[in-house]
Amino acid sequence: MDSSLADLPVQSIKGIGPRRAALFGRIGVRTVRDALYYLPRRYEDRSLIRAIADIRAGCAETVRGRIISCGPVAARGKRLRIFEVLANDGTGTIKGRWFNQSFMQRNLKAGQDVLLCGEAKRDPYSGAGFVMDGPEYETVSEDADSLIHTNRVVPLYRLTEGISQKQLRKIMFGIVEQYAGGLTEPLPPEIIERHGLPSLCETIKALHFPEDCDIRDWNEGKSIYHRRLAFEELFVFALGMAAFRKGRGQRGYSFRCEGRLRKRLQEGLSFELTNAQKRALEEILSDMRRPSPMSRLLQGDVGCGKTVVTFAAMLHAVECGFQTAFMAPTEILAEQHYRNICKMAEGFGVKVALISGGAKDRQLDRIASGEIPVVVGTHALMQEAVVFKNLGFVVIDEQHKFGVTQRGNLRKKGFNPDLLVMTATPIPRSLALTLYGDLDYSVIDEMPAGRRPVLTKVFVPDQKKEIYGILEEEIKKGRQVYVVYPVIEESEKIDLRAAVEGKSAFESIFPGFRVGLLHGRMAAADREEVMSEFRRGDLDILVSTTIVEVGVDVPNATVMIVVHAERFGLAQLHQLRGRVGRGGDRSCCLLVAYGPLGEDAGRRLDVMARTNDGFSIAQEDLAIRGPGEFWGTLQSGMPGFKVADLIRDLQLIETARQEAFSMIDANPGLCDFPLLKKMCETFWNGRTGVIGAG
Ligand code: ADP
Ligand code: MG
Repeated sequence: MDSSLADLPVQSIKGIGPRRAALFGRIGVRTVRDALYYLPRRYEDRSLIRAIADIRAGCAETVRGRIISCGPVAARGKRLRIFEVLANDGTGTIKGRWFNQSFMQRNLKAGQDVLLCGEAKRDPYSGAGFVMDGPEYETVSEDADSLIHTNRVVPLYRLTEGISQKQLRKIMFGIVEQYAGGLTEPLPPEIIERHGLPSLCETIKALHFPEDCDIRDWNEGKSIYHRRLAFEELFVFALGMAAFRKGRGQRGYSFRCEGRLRKRLQEGLSFELTNAQKRALEEILSDMRRPSPMSRLLQGDVGCGKTVVTFAAMLHAVECGFQTAFMAPTEILAEQHYRNICKMAEGFGVKVALISGGAKDRQLDRIASGEIPVVVGTHALMQEAVVFKNLGFVVIDEQHKFGVTQRGNLRKKGFNPDLLVMTATPIPRSLALTLYGDLDYSVIDEMPAGRRPVLTKVFVPDQKKEIYGILEEEIKKGRQVYVVYPVIEESEKIDLRAAVEGKSAFESIFPGFRVGLLHGRMAAADREEVMSEFRRGDLDILVSTTIVEVGVDVPNATVMIVVHAERFGLAQLHQLRGRVGRGGDRSCCLLVAYGPLGEDAGRRLDVMARTNDGFSIAQEDLAIRGPGEFWGTLQSGMPGFKVADLIRDLQLIETARQEAFSMIDANPGLCDFPLLKKMCETFWNGRTGVIGAG
């Protein structure tokens, strides 16, 4: 089959008219190729035919017998219509029955040989011994090989309304028979051979209608054929990443200077960088010195000290005469980074600007003229009005709020500037390589010395007294407290009211304490006012929504109270808890949970109480939510995978990535691999230009 056949619309397949084509459309199947790649969601072993005499009650069984009688039977309830079949295989008789399916009369007749497959139950009302309610069935013709629905390991597909499992299976059987054999192999033979993969057509056949397979492997997606398709998917994905990266240009700046500013920064710090910080900084600097543009991810758990490292690198660029931009995901964070950087830059006479929301013209002029070398801001930095004279270094603190392609936009404001992406999401290296497959990778995997784990405890609302006690004690010691309320979009009004009421409640319980309120609906200026009061220590308690979740840094705050903790996800709780424990003092996190707790919520809170380690929390999160959902929240503007499983296939991710990067190196435009190129474009759909002209 030339590949265009695979691109035929499903409607051109025999047995598929406009109605069925529409049904297929609903499950995302538009072409023959889509159909061939529409894999069963599960398999059932119906290959073992059991003698009726040996049937076990309560088990899924397949039997084969001759129909000795069949027809409608009178039901006690008036409305129920039952169709019954008695079949005998020489060892015994079994009854099959179907409810309200009068068309069965046309399908089964006495004298026919039939396969029945379903759960066998004891039947107290007849002499048959066993009954199957609504079993799958198939009449047996002479040609036993043509059996599709029974007598084999059968595929079960994800269905949509309007088509039955059996109908879909039959159609799929036809499609696989007719078209799978001719599928064009997209992977080059060297790669197939190197990794011992089966061919595409063999794979498609085996995954739809397996011949002797280990059903467990198939159901867990662990067969060699699953592996082959997962590889293909990851490879196509990585090709896009590799091409995207390659397309960024070969030449950038090489930052060569003494590093005076950077060294002065380090000397002025009240602490010494950890070894992990030093190593990450060295990796970044050595990238910067090279003429090709840096694309690097800096990963590290909350509070590990990414910001200092980043700023040191920025100073290096500044000393070399370039401008730098630092983009944060929220205004609060941008403001905070701005303040931190101002503080660090003070001694050096390095000017810093903040662009967030409405930027002032005068400031824009000073950026355009190159007078201000360090510009901090939100995505407002990407506005057209923001023009740099010589932007050489871009930092994105992203926490997954920006997508792969978006990162490019800020970069366009310079000529191939170096790029550093910061993230606090603790994910395994290979997962990071997928999410950030276009980037190199540095990790700060060590916390500053003297950090003590945050003591975490789960409370119920009845324990208010105890909670207030802890809070009072800490505030009397001069410490500060966060109280966080959940706010979700669907119930924003009610949620906000809860936070506002919470503030008044704290004010009346503790008349001597100063309480502030912070939420996303406040004007930026008011928010800033509250934040700086809290930072200065003019507020004892900050009642807030999750806008304090990322990055807010007030070392004197030692208590984090999370109200309705059961409503938060693990990653979010971990981020929130990261707001305390930033100074040398013992900090605590009180999770107030309102019952009854679902199983998952209970597990999440347990995990929080048990560990402070971001990586184990991410692992648990993964275990609780399953990879699909976990991945779903991590990825932003990133296509999803159908076959590959980012946990199960970690090893494959690396392999596919290596192959993809070397293929793009040798063949930047994929001109020799038109099918791969097309698949890559489809996978990254809408992101045209991922693969350039070559
Ligand atoms: P991250 O951005 O990784 O969450 P930050 O850069 O905000 O972490 O650092 C958290 C806090 O730890 C800051 O107050 C920072 O000054 C401090 N810090 C950073 N590095 C060190 C270190 N090596 N030793 C002690 N404190 C540090
Ligand atoms: Mg930070």
